[in-house]
Amino acid sequence: MTDSKTSLKPLQPTLYELAEDGHSLNFFFAQCGACGGLSFPANAPGCMHCGSPLSEAQRVTRPGGGELLEFVTLHVPLLHGMAAPSIAGDIRIAPGIVEEGVMAVGDETALRHGMTVRAIAEMKPEEGVYACRFVPVNEGAAQ
Ligand SMILES: [Zn+2]
Repeated sequence: MTDSKTSLKPLQPTLYELAEDGHSLNFFFAQCGACGGLSFPANAPGCMHCGSPLSEAQRVTRPGGGELLEFVTLHVPLLHGMAAPSIAGDIRIAPGIVEEGVMAVGDETALRHGMTVRAIAEMKPEEGVYACRFVPVNEGAAQ
């Protein structure tokens, strides 16, 4: 094994970075100085909760993941480089913040509404980047 994966760059460097375990992703949020709420992405112009400008907001790094709200299998790639079929999900990554993500599972039978998922890196060494994917956190764990 080489540590070449650490030389890969995030596909969306304003949104996430590789965590210390070399596999999970941390997401970047902005914490509003007025109401304390988190906004995503961290470079959003205003707080998603109270509308205050975020120019002075503190940047917060948290493990990426959340609650899987909805998911759907896409049989046509929506984005360049996206495999088809693939499963897209709506994930609540923080209170009041729902983002769309790609689920790294074989099919929908691995997924349930309301389950907890976490963000991992999908390494694309041929492109020099890693992308964000979501997987269930409860693999092998009791519910
Ligand atoms: Zn606010």
